[in-house]
Amino acid sequence: MLLASLREQVCAAAVRSYRSGLVRGTSGNWSARDPLTGLVAVTPSGLAYEKMTPEDIVVVNLDGEVVEGGRRPSSELPMHLVIYRRRPDVGGIAHTHSPYATALAVLERELPPVLIEMALVGTRVPVAPFAMPGTPEVGEAAVAALAEAQACLLARHGVVAVGRTVEEATLTAARVEEMAQIYHLAAQLGSPEPIPAEVMETLVRKYRGQ
Ligand SMILES: [Zn+2]
Repeated sequence: MLLASLREQVCAAAVRSYRSGLVRGTSGNWSARDPLTGLVAVTPSGLAYEKMTPEDIVVVNLDGEVVEGGRRPSSELPMHLVIYRRRPDVGGIAHTHSPYATALAVLERELPPVLIEMALVGTRVPVAPFAMPGTPEVGEAAVAALAEAQACLLARHGVVAVGRTVEEATLTAARVEEMAQIYHLAAQLGSPEPIPAEVMETLVRKYRGQ
C-alpha cells in the first residue's frame, strides 16, 4: 500500500475525532502530505467513520488526480490542495463542523482570545469569508485567514485547522472546539473580555519557546 504510514495517520485522526464527538455522520475531512513525494493522503467521501480503514484513504497528487485508492476523495479536496500549494509548511489538515465553533461560524464571528490556550493556535481564530463548499475558493479564503492562526472558521460552514502533521492539525481543531464551548459557557455567565494583545503576544512567544 502506497504511503501506508501516512494513510494510517489520516485514518486514525478521522476515527478518533469521530469518537470524541468532533464530527457527526460523515461530515469533516482529514489529509496529510508526504514530505518526500508531495502526494496527499485524504479521507474518502461519504464513508462512515466506524468502517474506515487505512485502505479507504485515497492518495492524490497536488492536481487532485487519484494515484492510489478505490474510493472517491473528499468533496473538500480542492480546499486541502489549495492550502498545501500555498503553504509549504503545512503537512496536515483537519476540517470539522464541530458544533460550538460552527455556531460562531454561523454568526460569522471570530473566536476571541479569552483563554490562555488560544496562544497555541494564534492570537484569535478568524473567520474566512463564505465560499461555495467543494470549490478551491474555500481554500483561498482559508489561506488568507490562516496567515494569522493555525485554525480559522469558515463562514456558515465549520472549522479548518492546519499543522506540521495531521495529528497536530487535529489537536488544534479539538482545541478550537473546546475554546468555543468554554467561550459559550462564559458568555452565559457574563461578558468574557479578550486577553489584552500584549499579554497574548507574550503567551504566543512563551508557547513557541522563544
Ligand atoms: Zn465541511
